[in-house]
Amino acid sequence: MNKELRILLLEDVSTDAELIKRELQKGDFLFILKQVKTEEAFEKALEEFIPDIILADYKLPLFDGISALRIAQKGHPDIPFIFVSGYRGEELAVETLKNGARDYILKDNLSRLVPSIRLILNEQEEQKKRKQAEEELQNSKRQVETILQTIVNGIVVYDNEGKLIYTNENGTKLLGFSSREELSKISSINSIWEKTCERFEIKDELGNPFLFDQLPGNRVLRGEANPEATICFKDKGMNKVHWVLVKSRPIVDAQGKVQMIVTVISDITEQKEQEKLKDEFIITASHELKTPVTSLKAFTQFLEKLIDKNQNKEYKHYIAKIDKQSDKLIKLTNDLLDLSKIQAGKIEFHKECFDPNKWIRDIAEDMQTLTNGHRIMVKGKIIRDVYGDKDRLSQVVMNLLSNAIKYSPEAKKIVVKLSENKEKAMIAVQDFGIGIEEQYQDKIFNRFFRINHNNEKTFPGLGMGLYISHQIIKRHSGQIWVESLKNKGSTFYFTIPFKTGS
Ligand code: ADP
Repeated sequence: MNKELRILLLEDVSTDAELIKRELQKGDFLFILKQVKTEEAFEKALEEFIPDIILADYKLPLFDGISALRIAQKGHPDIPFIFVSGYRGEELAVETLKNGARDYILKDNLSRLVPSIRLILNEQEEQKKRKQAEEELQNSKRQVETILQTIVNGIVVYDNEGKLIYTNENGTKLLGFSSREELSKISSINSIWEKTCERFEIKDELGNPFLFDQLPGNRVLRGEANPEATICFKDKGMNKVHWVLVKSRPIVDAQGKVQMIVTVISDITEQKEQEKLKDEFIITASHELKTPVTSLKAFTQFLEKLIDKNQNKEYKHYIAKIDKQSDKLIKLTNDLLDLSKIQAGKIEFHKECFDPNKWIRDIAEDMQTLTNGHRIMVKGKIIRDVYGDKDRLSQVVMNLLSNAIKYSPEAKKIVVKLSENKEKAMIAVQDFGIGIEEQYQDKIFNRFFRINHNNEKTFPGLGMGLYISHQIIKRHSGQIWVESLKNKGSTFYFTIPFKTGS
């Protein structure tokens, strides 16, 4: 301790005061000692000297220690008060301690004085630290609370038994409650859900009822690490809709057991409305495009037949070009339409059993007409019939083959392989082209994702084909993936489960 300790000594006997002073000098602290003998001087010293510690005799001629203790306790309860007395007696000591003194030291045992002061000072230091820590803690709590209250997201925290621990103001609103007080009357997440169901029709993105079990918080309890869900709330009374994105994360204890669940709710109503407008626009635009493109195609074919008769080679060449471009436009409008249907959850499947071998060979033959540079080879065989929507699955194979053609401009062959195991048929399309770096191999199945080939040849496309293919395969309960090496080529695989019982 660097600061001088200010000690107020209430003692009328000078020799005793001297002894006490000498004893204090043995301590490892600097001090200033002020000695007083009367009540008046004692009170004045309390106000002016402002001691850190008080040492007092028990009996003085005109004053007494107990009264001094009372005075000190009243005005300065934090200043430690120690009796240094010649009066023996346990009862006396106990009585003074009860009244608030910190110690009772006998004058013939003064060696206890310094350790007692040290102990008191240490305790004071600890208490100060605890108080400071508490204040920091309180400050950061206030800061976190302010942050949580001002962010636009809703925050809901509950424990592993569903007991509600915290919600911020926006969380309260997004759950459909008017105030935190109203929500605080409901203590568990289950009852909040019940209340919410009374007011809202709750649906998922495809329009199916959204169930309590599907809540990301409940998925966290079942072991999922980062679950999220997009949920639509339709107000039963007001016919109003709001959309939220819900993400939940666990807070685990040292053993890894989930203690609490933090759920963040974002209002995505506006975003959803924009998406809906955009999807509707794409549907309308692609319908509008489809009509003229279809007649363009029909007239081109008509012209082609006429020119065939006249044997004009140059005309024929240009007409073939127009025909090819119309095919591209048709494919584009169809892709756009499919994409909107997928987004709106309106894509329909007409499944049937069919022989995959002839099917694949027919597609390969058709696609062969689109490339002069490559030879498309089909290898392998699938014995059992597959079960699925033939047109939609053809779309997948055609997408993979046209990508294989497009992204392997220097290669001479493309290989389609058919194989099967007990549960499923597998079809692979292998090219020997530009390949795909590992970091992109998952991303290419995302909507509109295209690899930016810096400095390389640019390839036309909109990044829809693999997304649509992925969605089609998913709806057949199959899988689609790619294995690829940059500059060596890619193999796209997809599987379709056989119909059980077939
Ligand atoms: P598009 O070809 O119209 O851009 P896709 O969805 O079919 O859209 O493909 C997404 C992206 O994946 C492509 O832009 C391309 O970068 C990459 N890709 C797809 N197939 C291949 C392939 N066979 N070889 C190399 N890259 C490919």
